[in-house]
Amino acid sequence: MSRQLTSIAVYCGSNTGLGDAYVKAARDLGTAMGEAGIGLVYGGTHKGLMGVLADAVLAAGGKAHGIISKRLHAQGHLHPGLTRHEIVDTMRLRKSRMIEEADAFIALPGGIGTLEEFMEVWTLNQLGEMDKPAGLFDVAGYYQPFMAFIDHMIAQRFLPAAHRGSIVLEPDPKRLIAGLATFERVSVPKWM
Ligand code: AMP
Repeated sequence: MSRQLTSIAVYCGSNTGLGDAYVKAARDLGTAMGEAGIGLVYGGTHKGLMGVLADAVLAAGGKAHGIISKRLHAQGHLHPGLTRHEIVDTMRLRKSRMIEEADAFIALPGGIGTLEEFMEVWTLNQLGEMDKPAGLFDVAGYYQPFMAFIDHMIAQRFLPAAHRGSIVLEPDPKRLIAGLATFERVSVPKWM
């Protein structure tokens, strides 16, 4: 079964990270999405990897839909060239609008904001509240320490081993998108 992915919500750092690898990865993902005709839903800023990503989607002829909180908008964080933007009251509302608008989710490298957003969509899938695939773009092994912690959860019997495979983990943007499109929900119960 292949899913039709019209838009993907991408979570990523509002900083660019160390060196060039993360910036290049954000650009490559944006280009791949734009070329595949997959719209971007994201936090709406011009800052950090988010800005690089949106610029690349737009440069490749794609659509970028930013959803930003009132507070960040008032601080001048909105990207000026988006196809569409929404200004919402709270960060919470922003996250739920991003989830509604997207068919799938990707986290590029980022900080605690990125991780929090990704964990929300992973857990909503785990609980069966939604069936929209989520993937980590494992740029330069960025998410390996995180996956080691997930393995620790499994070893300590807080997470069924099958749930390690309930997200897509990929170092290549095109394979990551393809993995989301062919993803099949893991139906192993969460409770052991
Ligand atoms: P972080 O990984 O801590 O840099 O946070 C990035 C995530 O939090 C992004 O995916 C955004 O959704 C949100 N976020 C953090 N800073 C901003 C900002 N300046 N503008 C829009 N969204 C932001």
